[in-house]
Amino acid sequence: MFYRSGLQRLTIAWQEDWPRFQLWQAGKTGFPLVDANMRELAATGFMSNRGRQNVASFLTKNLGINWQMGAEWFESQLIDCDACSNWGNWNYAAGVGNDARGFRYFNILKQSSMYDPTGDYIRHWLPELMQIPEDKVHQPEKLTMEEQKRYQCQLGIDYPRPVVDFFKSIKSNERLYNSAFTR
Ligand SMILES: Cc1cc2nc3c(=O)[nH]c(=O)nc-3n(C[C@H](O)[C@H](O)[C@H](O)COP(=O)(O)OP(=O)(O)OC[C@H]3O[C@@H](n4cnc5c(N)ncnc54)[C@H](O)[C@@H]3O)c2cc1C
Repeated sequence: MFYRSGLQRLTIAWQEDWPRFQLWQAGKTGFPLVDANMRELAATGFMSNRGRQNVASFLTKNLGINWQMGAEWFESQLIDCDACSNWGNWNYAAGVGNDARGFRYFNILKQSSMYDPTGDYIRHWLPELMQIPEDKVHQPEKLTMEEQKRYQCQLGIDYPRPVVDFFKSIKSNERLYNSAFTR
């Protein structure tokens, strides 16, 4: 369970991309749901189950980063850290656990609109998005120049642009994941 290859003993080409990992840790990926959850974790030592699943999916399925780095970060932060729940759930999120059903990922934007429809959770943890209305708060990268001024949120300065293209990154990491089965 603690090995990189997980319970399924899969050899996946995980990256150890520290600059990107640090953006994830600090809640600066440009994906508000991920960032709000990561900042909540750093500030309080807690994150909801929904949040944990989303940020773990994002780290492994979008950034393609070694899931052990995520598990270790959670272990260092969580006030409810439990080795079995934490490392077992990370195995599952990375697709290397017992119950993994192939390459499954969370659609962060869909999850964000479904579980935080008004954006109140996002605004609570990301004060730089405080003035952005609910139709734009889940995707601040869509703000026009005029809106950035009006809502006092300059992209790339006050809040980052998305660190990856969501679906392109899913596709390339899915290829890497699937190639572990053809070896
Ligand atoms: C990657 C990963 C790592 C994990 N690591 C651990 C670990 O180390 N230790 C551990 O014990 N568990 C771990 N878990 C399991 C799980 O996430 C936690 O046990 C869980 O978050 C605990 O919170 P909860 O019981 O409030 O459940 P949640 O799923 O957060 O909440 C349960 C229900 O209560 C509702 N709810 C939550 N908060 C409120 C509120 N304030 N007001 C009203 N309704 C509310 C939710 O909507 C949900 O329906 C992990 C899960 C994952 C995916």
